[in-house]
Amino acid sequence: MFRERDVNSPCINANTTIMERRDFLKSTVAGAATLALASSPLALLSSCAPKEKKDSKKNVTLNLSFQEGTAPGGSLAEKFDYMENLGITGFEPGGHNLANRVEEITQALSGRNIRVSAICAGFSGFILAEDPAVKAEFDATMRDIVAAAGELKSTGVIMVPAFNGQVPCLPHTMQTRNYLCEQLHELGEYAVKCGTTIILEPLNRRECFYLRLVSDAAAICRDAQSEGVKCMGDFWHMQEETSDYAAFMSAGKEYLQHVHVASRGRRIMPGEDGEKDNYLEGMRALKEMEYDKFISFECGTAGDRAVTLPAAVELLRAQWEQV
Ligand code: MG
Repeated sequence: MFRERDVNSPCINANTTIMERRDFLKSTVAGAATLALASSPLALLSSCAPKEKKDSKKNVTLNLSFQEGTAPGGSLAEKFDYMENLGITGFEPGGHNLANRVEEITQALSGRNIRVSAICAGFSGFILAEDPAVKAEFDATMRDIVAAAGELKSTGVIMVPAFNGQVPCLPHTMQTRNYLCEQLHELGEYAVKCGTTIILEPLNRRECFYLRLVSDAAAICRDAQSEGVKCMGDFWHMQEETSDYAAFMSAGKEYLQHVHVASRGRRIMPGEDGEKDNYLEGMRALKEMEYDKFISFECGTAGDRAVTLPAAVELLRAQWEQV
């Protein structure tokens, strides 16, 4: 089990230092007295004690977001009215045709306590396409969406390097990874100029074998060397992870830009899969890193949306309070 004290406690380094010093002092006469003093239980406790006790129950705000299809309503105004009544402050539209919707979305959000959380994909082609024409299609459509995302002050545009079904795809090799990092660097720098980012989303192995783990996405962000390249975690796809806590912590506040949520059995509303819908360990990590972006609903429902949606919001808030 991965525990906070295993990675963050200064005791790990302090103990290493103590052992090294002990070996050195044993070899000197003058060091013997020093060692006797330093070995007292109080001295050891003092050297190991964290300077400041970490409080995992900090008052970190839970920012919830809905994708466009989540809230009931026939228009953006109706959806936003519903969201405001539930205290939902984020909106995640799809990227398709976004450039032509900037004014519509801006006007509908005007005067409300809701802002664009992230843009969900919507481009054509894919970045690892073997066919130059398909890659060019990705470049053009993605850049249009990124520019619109900047106008909407979105935290970023979500993308996947290659779905399993997207072929022909560049082979899963070191050379391809280097190419991906280079391409993401260029795209990330463009996103920075537009005032936004691109957000890599790891998916489960049935959908995207290329990128499954939050830690791998975070490592690609690091290696792309651009402030405009970020990543996210999706509680549904995080069935790939061995630890929700470790997954989010591996990205940390530096790279984690967005989170998706759904039930953990059937990808419907949180709570509809009963006890499986436990988000506590992931939320504990988000609170500890003082995550200030959004957790966005990406799910349908098997029940009556008028009942399951408010219940899901209530469940997430209750679990957030619990950690
Ligand atoms: Mg997702």
